[in-house]
Amino acid sequence: MDSPEYPGFATRAIHAGAPSTRPGGAQGDVVSPIHLSSTFRLDEVPDVSLMDLDPSHGEYLYSRLGNPTRQVLEERIASLTGGTHGFAFGSGTGAVLTTVLASAQAGDAIVAFDDLYGGSLKLLDQLAEERLEMDVNLVDARDESKVAAAIDDDTALVLMETPTNPLLHLCDISAIADLTEQHGVPLAVDNTFSSPYFQQPLDLGADIVIHSTTKYLNGHSDGLGGAIATNDDDLAEQIGFLQRVGLGNPMAPFDAYMVLRGMKTLAARMDIHQRNAMGIAEYLHGHEGVRRVRYPGHESHPQYDLASEQMGGFGGVLSFELDGDASHARRFLEALEVFSLGVSLGGVESLIELPASMTHESIDEEVRIDRGITETLIRVSVGIEEFDDLIRDLERGFAAAFGE
Ligand SMILES: *Cc1c(COP(=O)(O)O)cnc(C)c1O
Repeated sequence: MDSPEYPGFATRAIHAGAPSTRPGGAQGDVVSPIHLSSTFRLDEVPDVSLMDLDPSHGEYLYSRLGNPTRQVLEERIASLTGGTHGFAFGSGTGAVLTTVLASAQAGDAIVAFDDLYGGSLKLLDQLAEERLEMDVNLVDARDESKVAAAIDDDTALVLMETPTNPLLHLCDISAIADLTEQHGVPLAVDNTFSSPYFQQPLDLGADIVIHSTTKYLNGHSDGLGGAIATNDDDLAEQIGFLQRVGLGNPMAPFDAYMVLRGMKTLAARMDIHQRNAMGIAEYLHGHEGVRRVRYPGHESHPQYDLASEQMGGFGGVLSFELDGDASHARRFLEALEVFSLGVSLGGVESLIELPASMTHESIDEEVRIDRGITETLIRVSVGIEEFDDLIRDLERGFAAAFGE
C-alpha cells in the first residue's frame, strides 16, 4: 500500500514510507526498525516468479531483492524527490553507474556536463568509454546550446549536475529537459549539492534524479550511500534489475536506517546550512584577502538569476579564491579549528578543502587553472555550527595567511 500523501516536505521527510503507514507493519514503532535478515521465511511455496514479489506489499524473499528497511528508505526518497520509484545503493557512485548502465550500452553516446563530480567523470572516461565502448561527449552545459549541439541519434543519456563542485556552475534543467524530450533521450540530474529540499529535477522535467546520500541526505558524515528516483516505469525496471541482479549493489539495511534517521532533519538542517553559507558568502565578499566568491545565492554569481528561478534555496557549499598564492592557502587552511580540513560535504560539521591539491589534482594543471580551479581556490561545506564561531575561525585563517 502506498504511503498516505503528506503535503509538506518536512512532514514527508519524517513519515513517508514509515512502517506504521502500512498494514501488517504496525507494531507501533515510530522509527523504522533495522531488518538485518538476509533471507525471509515464507508461509508457502510462492506461485509467482521471485522477481515479481512486491516489497511494497511486504513480500520479501532475500535482502538483495528487497529488504524492509531499504524499502522504507526507497519510498521516502521517491516521496521527497517527486518520483514514483526510488532505489538505494551502496554509494552515490553506484547510483551514477546504475544510471549509465540503465540507459546506455556499447556503441551508444552519452552527453555529460564537463564539470560533473570528479568520480563521475572518471567513471565515464575509464569505464564507460575505455572499457564499455560508449562514446562520452563532455560539454560546458552552462550554455544549453552546447548540449543541443552535442545530442545526436546515438545519444542514449544526458547526464547533468547542478550546482557543480567546486565552481558552483549551474545548468538550466528545464531548458535541457526540453532538448532531451525532443530527442526522446533520458535526462539524469545529480542533485547531490542541492538535496531534494532545495531542488526538484523531476518536476523540472528530468527523467532520473541521483543523490549521493553520503552528503546532505544522511547529513552526518557517517555512512556512504546513493539514491535514484524516477517516474519512468521502463527506466525503473532497468534500474531495479541492475540494483538487484545485474550489479547487485543495493544499500545495506543498517546504512538505510542511518539515512532514514538523517533525512528526518533534512529540512531543518538545510535551512541552517543555507543561512550560514549566505552569511559567510557575504563576509568573504567584502574581505580584502579574497579575490572572488562563488555561491549561487550571492548576487555576484553569474547565474544568480537561474539559481533563484530553478532552486528553492542555495545550499551550503561555496568556494572562494584567496588573494595570494599556494602558501597563503596552506597557512589559511591549517590555522582553522572549527572547520575541518577534509573532502566531502553535506554533514553538520563545516569542512574545508583545497581542490587543486585534494580533489582535482589529477586534472592537467593548465586545464585546471583555465577552468578556475586555481592554487588558492578553497571549497567550503558550511555546517550548522554557530555562525559567529565560523566567522571567528575564518578570521583566524586570514590572520595566519596574511599575518594581520
Ligand atoms: C560525493 C558525490 C558523488 C559520489 O558519491 P559517493 O557516495 O562518494 O560514491 C556523486 N556526485 C556528487 C555530486 C557527489 O558530491
